[in-house]
Amino acid sequence: MILIVGGGPAGSLSAIALRKFDVTIVEEHQSPGFPVQCAGLVSERCYRELRRFSDCKLNKIRGAVFFSKNESVELEGRCGGVVVERKVLDRDLFAKASEFANVMVKTKFLNARKKIAELLSYGKRFEVEYDFILGADGVYSRVAKVFGFERPKIYSAVQVTSRFDYFSDDLVEIYLGFSDFLCYSIPLDGFAKIGAISSKNPMQVLKRLLRWLGKRVKGCVLELNVGAIPIGIVNFVGDNVMLMGDSAGMVKPYTGGGLYYIVKAVEKLKHFPNLKMIRREYLRDLGMEYKIGMRIARLYGVLKPEDYDYMIGVLKEHSDLARELDMDKPSTILKFIPTILKIVKRRSVMMKLISLLV
Ligand SMILES: Cc1cc2nc3c(=O)[nH]c(=O)nc-3n(C[C@H](O)[C@H](O)[C@H](O)COP(=O)(O)OP(=O)(O)OC[C@H]3O[C@@H](n4cnc5c(N)ncnc54)[C@H](O)[C@@H]3O)c2cc1C
Repeated sequence: MILIVGGGPAGSLSAIALRKFDVTIVEEHQSPGFPVQCAGLVSERCYRELRRFSDCKLNKIRGAVFFSKNESVELEGRCGGVVVERKVLDRDLFAKASEFANVMVKTKFLNARKKIAELLSYGKRFEVEYDFILGADGVYSRVAKVFGFERPKIYSAVQVTSRFDYFSDDLVEIYLGFSDFLCYSIPLDGFAKIGAISSKNPMQVLKRLLRWLGKRVKGCVLELNVGAIPIGIVNFVGDNVMLMGDSAGMVKPYTGGGLYYIVKAVEKLKHFPNLKMIRREYLRDLGMEYKIGMRIARLYGVLKPEDYDYMIGVLKEHSDLARELDMDKPSTILKFIPTILKIVKRRSVMMKLISLLV
């Protein structure tokens, strides 16, 4: 029996992919997806995969406006985006997974030893035997802890939903230079999800951002979500155990978006039970994307607000470059490095870009 711990997107999609096997999912809540800890932005490419199981599209996105404190530029990349309703997505994926797998809700994974898992359900501890365990139990994975997996670095995120005077309802807004990662707003029907991601104190960052946005934020906050984002993929396979999703750091290191990298990992479950092959194939597809993504994430930490002002000023003159960029594939930036080195004239910024990107 394959024991999947966690019924979020990683657990449910894995159960669907492993439907030929005897699978049991344990989910500690009554249903996954609550509280929602997601802005719901995915690429069209990712949505095409998700919509096979869930019609959860809320809005279509054609590009992004990048803001620094004093500049802004509108860019459209190679691939558009879609805003999805995470509650609906998680619910539908879990329902689909339960067509193929045994599902135990309100059941928490506690421990495992010699292929026996210790579970807790409605206050009672009990044991189940398993052949293989898949930890899809999120960023603070108990499975990862029990089996001694390396842990990714964890950033914190705070997100509010509020009425918002956005630029356009098909453009997300990215705010750079407010934290050591990034901040965003995702438009939706007169409202926006406005979030801050940072390695430390994201609430302070969000307050600063909201002050800067000023009157564009209208009325009071309707919803507040706090979450964590793992940055950096770890070795995710062991003996009869593997991690999937946030538990493994399967998140774009430069945005914190996890759904596309989960979809890509689940594709590789076709090689199950050859775990080494799953890992090899996954890293063959995405290894370079993680590498470049991590470099971009490190750049966020060293660029100063005035560097972003300068870079966005430069990008305004060259916004056509973005047409070749792909939100899922940061490696698409590589072919522009010679151009970037030509157009970025400010030495201090150029040195930071060279040290991290080249
Ligand atoms: C503020 C914020 C905004 C985000 N925005 C985006 C975005 O716009 N686009 C995007 O692609 N990604 C986004 N992400 C990331 C995305 O939400 C995650 O990558 C994704 O939810 C990971 O799915 P998962 O199934 O691995 O983990 P989770 O969704 O966390 O699911 C884990 C499941 O495991 C269960 N569980 C945990 N421990 C146990 C246990 N011991 N026993 C049993 N069950 C357990 C939990 O109850 C949960 O249901 C965002 C994250 C945050 C925090």
